[in-house]
Amino acid sequence: MSNEVHCPYCNARQGVSDRDDYRPYYVNCAECARRFIVEPVKSGVVVYRDGEAPCCSDPECREIEMADSGQD
Ligand SMILES: [Zn+2]
Repeated sequence: MSNEVHCPYCNARQGVSDRDDYRPYYVNCAECARRFIVEPVKSGVVVYRDGEAPCCSDPECREIEMADSGQD
């Protein structure tokens, strides 16, 4: 199964494959080559522009947060 998303910059359709988990990931648009974030959710996927996602939905921000809280 796969999902289809619309690029938040140019609105081009882009197919994304389902993942095994709900972690957000980056997608590079095939049309405008800009990077955006796709976050799988139960009902499908949520798309964010790079830099506009909340930290928990931003792959890079999550990595930083997890590294920071590693001492817990
Ligand atoms: Zn695009």
